[in-house]
Amino acid sequence: MKKLPLPATDDRQKTTANSNNDLLGETSYPYLKNELQDILNGYVDYDANNGNAFNVAPVNITDALADGLKKNYKSPPKDLKFINDLRESSPIVCPMCGSLGTGTLDHLFPKEDYPEFAVYSKNLVPACDCNIKRRTNLKDGNRRVLHPYYDNVLSQRLISCDISQDPAFPMAKIKIKYAQPNLPEIDSIKFHAEKVILPSGLIGWLEGQWDSLVKDPSLSIHTLPDENIASVAEFERYLNSALSKYDRKFETPNNWYSIFFHGLLNSRGVVNFLYTKHNLIYP
Ligand SMILES: [Zn+2]
Repeated sequence: MKKLPLPATDDRQKTTANSNNDLLGETSYPYLKNELQDILNGYVDYDANNGNAFNVAPVNITDALADGLKKNYKSPPKDLKFINDLRESSPIVCPMCGSLGTGTLDHLFPKEDYPEFAVYSKNLVPACDCNIKRRTNLKDGNRRVLHPYYDNVLSQRLISCDISQDPAFPMAKIKIKYAQPNLPEIDSIKFHAEKVILPSGLIGWLEGQWDSLVKDPSLSIHTLPDENIASVAEFERYLNSALSKYDRKFETPNNWYSIFFHGLLNSRGVVNFLYTKHNLIYP
């Protein structure tokens, strides 16, 4: 998860130009020309409601236009080339789930249900294949998917993990944990985690990280020195330094490495366990 700046695309100008492109007779012309004002009003409403799925009103468009806009998305005509640029603008961390994959564009309001926003830049979020795994989940009751262009709460640390200490260490059990359970947006944060982050494979990835870590902590925690560490407190400072570096490197505390390191620091018994492990390797 990552807060992104709004795309700089002038959607009004681009969509208006596209509506006048009479070479698009097989796709959006003349439907977009006939229904242009409805589409532009929909864009204004989407932006005025900050992409909040509870408040943005669906736009009633003809099936012919719905079909035409989806085809425009699939094969962008000259006025909509910004779609390819947005896809290629992928940041190094997925704004939707926090993994290190990117390369696709996610329709935050799914184009199957909201074809009116199929080519609207503010509805197109660079993402990894969590995009496909989310399917058409957008909202349910008082819960909704968070929007990387609008939801400022994404700049805060929202997701952590709990690594449970049991007698079978190092076979740990790992669960997602919410870093700030009292935020007003907590129901939507949980919905976003259930529909976007967990289907993307966070838990399996964390388990893989843990498996490598317990073999030799200094190979995974790059801030650790290859020598004996005098105290648990000092060891914990190295872990905090690693967490802070991941937060800065990916410009979001909700990338998967930060989720892992925050979990290491906040799960009972884990810092002690790793400290002991490290000093066994470097006596
Ligand atoms: Zn993703």
